[in-house]
Amino acid sequence: VIPLVLVGAAGRMGRAVEQAAGEAGGFEIHARVERPGSLPASGAAAGRWSASAGEVVRAGDVVIDFSGAPAVGALATLCAERGAPLVSGTTGLSSADEAVIAEAAKRVAVLRAANFSLGVAALQRALDAALTALPSTWDVEIVERHHRRKLDSPSGTALALARRVQAVRGGAAAIRHGRSGATGERPAAEIGMHSLRGGTWVGDHTVLIAGEGEWIELRHVAQDRAAFASGALAAARFVAQARPGLYTVDDLLGDR
Ligand code: NAD
Repeated sequence: VIPLVLVGAAGRMGRAVEQAAGEAGGFEIHARVERPGSLPASGAAAGRWSASAGEVVRAGDVVIDFSGAPAVGALATLCAERGAPLVSGTTGLSSADEAVIAEAAKRVAVLRAANFSLGVAALQRALDAALTALPSTWDVEIVERHHRRKLDSPSGTALALARRVQAVRGGAAAIRHGRSGATGERPAAEIGMHSLRGGTWVGDHTVLIAGEGEWIELRHVAQDRAAFASGALAAARFVAQARPGLYTVDDLLGDR
């Protein structure tokens, strides 16, 4: 049985992970961490809640974080100090936060992903294949849609897809966030990025690749946070066994 500490436990993803862990079996919730203002009224939920990860994280706990970007650096450092592997799903991180996570991963296993769904992992592989098969003159645009409460734009998944395009194309293309005014003609070495926000939409990413007289669209739609939660639990099983290091969803999938 893998003991879990859920950080951001009262949030949309925290609740989805707790539900999925209950259904999957093989996990126990050791503790839930929330901001003081978001802790449930006492007696509202069984088990341990805390306003401080430092109060509850023990060696060997697997910490699953879906909270907010300001929390992530200190949490990763705490995990390294305590010997608690980390599954990191919070998006909108600065490069300084990413550096703190990489440092923590020297001491504990950390699996970080902007998107834990199997479908997005497959989309990334399909994107690599499509780009490899096409001339680099084809234009790439990324369109993502999310619910109105999302705090960061573009989504972490959209940025990861853009980085994938840059990797396949040798890093030359810059990200262009929206267009307005007298923009001039579209340069080839550009990745257009468009974020739509509204309603309750869970997550939707389309990569459009446009040539002369034809387009390809690769699209993934997350209809339910269970898609992310089951991937996060697979990541928890992985880091519980893994040596220290910084891992990605690709490490979960292997060569499948
Ligand atoms: P949410 O706002 O519903 O939940 C976040 C929760 O974290 C809230 O309850 C908030 O009170 C809590 N929180 C914030 N700061 C905290 C802190 N310092 N300590 C403890 N708790 C804190 O948001 P959400 O939709 O659950 O998303 C959370 C994060 O996960 C976002 O960054 C989102 O982009 C990301 N996300 C990642 C994936 C993925 O697959 N990697 C999927 C969905 C969402």
